[in-house]
This record gives sequence, structure tokens and C-alpha cells, in this order.
Amino acid sequence: MAQNRSRSFRASRRRFLAASAALLGAPARASLAVAAGATVSETGTSSAEAFHLRPGGSLAGYDPWIEILAANFRHNVREVSRLAGGRPILAVIKNNAYGLGDQVIGPLVASCEEIYGLACVRVAEAVAMREAGVTKFVLNMAEVSEEEGLELARRNVHQAVWLDDAPARLERIASRTGRPVPIHLYLDCGMNREGMPDYRALPWVETLCNQKSAQVDGTFIMFPHVLDADRSVLERFLRFTGDSRSRGLDLGALHAAPSYEVLYFPDAHLDMVRPGNLLFGNFTREDWLEEEPDLRTVFRLCSKVVRLERLRTGDSASFGRRYVATRPTWLALLPVGHTDGYPAEATNTCHVLIRGSLYPVVAVVSSTHTLVEIGEEKTVEVGDTATLIGPDDPAITPHAVAEKTGGRFYTLITKMSALLPKRVV
Ligand SMILES: *Cc1c(COP(=O)(O)O)cnc(C)c1O
Repeated sequence: MAQNRSRSFRASRRRFLAASAALLGAPARASLAVAAGATVSETGTSSAEAFHLRPGGSLAGYDPWIEILAANFRHNVREVSRLAGGRPILAVIKNNAYGLGDQVIGPLVASCEEIYGLACVRVAEAVAMREAGVTKFVLNMAEVSEEEGLELARRNVHQAVWLDDAPARLERIASRTGRPVPIHLYLDCGMNREGMPDYRALPWVETLCNQKSAQVDGTFIMFPHVLDADRSVLERFLRFTGDSRSRGLDLGALHAAPSYEVLYFPDAHLDMVRPGNLLFGNFTREDWLEEEPDLRTVFRLCSKVVRLERLRTGDSASFGRRYVATRPTWLALLPVGHTDGYPAEATNTCHVLIRGSLYPVVAVVSSTHTLVEIGEEKTVEVGDTATLIGPDDPAITPHAVAEKTGGRFYTLITKMSALLPKRVV
């Protein structure tokens, strides 16, 4: 929606909301080409049943892959929208979309009408969104160098600003692009990590709001995820924005709430919410949580069975001879390992799903290989698909695999290799 926005289109709070409402009624229809030829439109229809981000990847081949479950993603978006009282969502897709591939997830999420726009923290990610055909609003939430700022402005990506030299820098960028630089102001109301400290922000905000080279469309903060501290941060933010507005400064849309605050701090929902984790099916479960959010698993980690071998009693397998067959048994080899993102700790703790049955992971999970004990009966075949992580059984959900391997959901999914081909199903 932010294409060619002129200064007269600058979003006051009311205009922003009206604009988002219009946006909800008329999602962008741009079609986008994804690397290997298939297309996904921003309305979310996929023209091919499968596509791969990496040219050369093929489902007929033996490389492991990630399946992105589009319907579950859309479900989570609707659930977050419900939790946020129908407010627009600024979807965070940083860290390569939490490990699942930003060039696939970005357009998919952007195709949901509840989504106002996307937010990331790296210039490369913002650029990737435009290259993947996303025409909706994109915010890069990190401060950037002048050259990077120029690149973002040219691509009509909003940049977050909070450093003292921002006014002068934006002036120079605007003189090169010939139009105001679209920005969101990042304030610090007690986090002391990023953001312009509220206690010295007023003259800086005044300068930015009044200079023709900057187009202030929003203002935001981050929370420490401790409710008492969150409350004080929000109070400081609302005091600051109230003061600014009473001086006639237009701060645009106010946003603050990542996943934790979407769930636990409704006062912080403001004009729009800014979650990542919830959309990917992850949330923090506090004791006082009254109603579980209905969030679904949004991906599968899959591999083919590429070898089946019958071990004799006493045969060992793989490095360190950590597995010894105590009876004749079939072992299945999956060419997927910890460099792909499947945790090494899955040995003797996790199962994989093949033909609807669970089989234990045995021996060492090496960098690119995993062995599975099938048993005395040969109940699987070479070429079968094994699901290592996914929604299809409670034993293999990301939460379950993270717990069994002593890790966390967030770490598990963000470690999925960026090289894994992606298939949207
Ligand atoms: C990561 C991030 C978010 C989203 O956080 P989740 O916990 O994944 O919802 C929101 N805002 C900022 C500034 C972030 O860096």
C-alpha cells in the first residue's frame, strides 16, 4: 500500500486505520515468480503444486526438504488477528523467517488480508521481500548505514531510525531519491537496547516530523517481556506520544506488541501488533494463561529413505559404534542431519514418521545422516518419505522434538538450514 506515497498521503493515526481497512478490502494482486518457475500470487494461490527455492532441488531427488503448510499459516494469522482484536498485523519474518525461508514465507504471509505488512531486521531480508514480489508495506527494524538507507528508500521499504544523525542522513538520502524517505521512529522507553531514549527524543522527533525529507508513518518501541517492566515501558511511550501529539506532531501508527504482549498485554496492542513467533506456532506458556491460543505447526522437515539394510545381531552402525543390533533388524538411512537442522540430540530420544508409524532414531545423528531402526519386519521401502518434524503426530511436533532434545522451539526452527528446498503444500 505504501507505493509512491506522497507527503499528502502521510498517515495520521486515523488515516492509517482507514488505509488499512481499505487494504483489507483490496489485497494486492501482484503475481510473483519464485526461483524455479512456479508462481504464488499475493492473494495466496499457488500456480504449481510444489516449488523449490533453490533451482535444482527436486522432489524426485534425495535432498531433504521443508514443507510449508500454507493453510496452517493462514490459520495462525487469523488466530493472531482474533487475539489482537482484529487490529492489523505487522508480521515479523526476520532471521530468514525464523529459519523457514523468507522468500517463501514472506509472500505467503503478505497474501493474508489480516496482514498490514512485513517487518525484518536485515537489509538483505527487506530487499528479498521486494524481489519476491511483495508489494505491501515492509519495515526494516534495524538502523542502517546511509548507503543501505538509500537502497531501502529506492525500494520503498520503510526504515526504522533512532540514531542522533538520522535527520541529516535522511536529508542526504532524500536529495538522492528526490522524495521523502519513508520511516518509522524507534523509541526506547526502558529497554536500553535499541531506540532513541524517550527522555531526550522530543527535539529529535520534532526535527524529523518537520523536515520535508522524512515521511514519518509510524512510531514503535520494544518490550522486555516482563509484565511489570512492560507496563512502565508502555506508560512512558504513551506519555511521550501524548506530549508529541499535543504539540501537533504526527507520529503515524503506533505499534509495540510482539508475540508475548499480543498474548499477555492487550493494553499494548495499540494501532497494530507486531508478532513473529505466534505466526510460526510458538508462544510462551505462563501459569496465568487462561485460554490456550489455537496455533498450528506450520512446517514439516522431510527426507527420503535412501537405503534399507538388514543388520545381523551384534552388528554396529555409524560413528563410535554407538548402536549395536541386539537382534536382526532393518535400519533405514535418511540423508538428513544436524547441519540441516535436525538436532544431534535426537539419537535415542526422537522418532520419525514413515507410512504412519513411528520409528526410533538410533546411532549418531551425523552432519548429514540419520539412522532409524525399523525392526525385524521390513515395513518401509526405499523412496518412502520420512517426516522428522511436523504436525502429523504428537511425538514429532516442533515442541515435542525441542523438548526431547533439550532445546527450545525457537532454536530448533531458526536452525533449519537455509539451503533446504522449500515446498508449499
Ligand atoms: C523479533 C522482534 C519482534 C517479534 O518478536 P516475537 O517474539 O517473535 O513475536 C517484534 N519486534 C521487534 C523489534 C523484534 O526484533
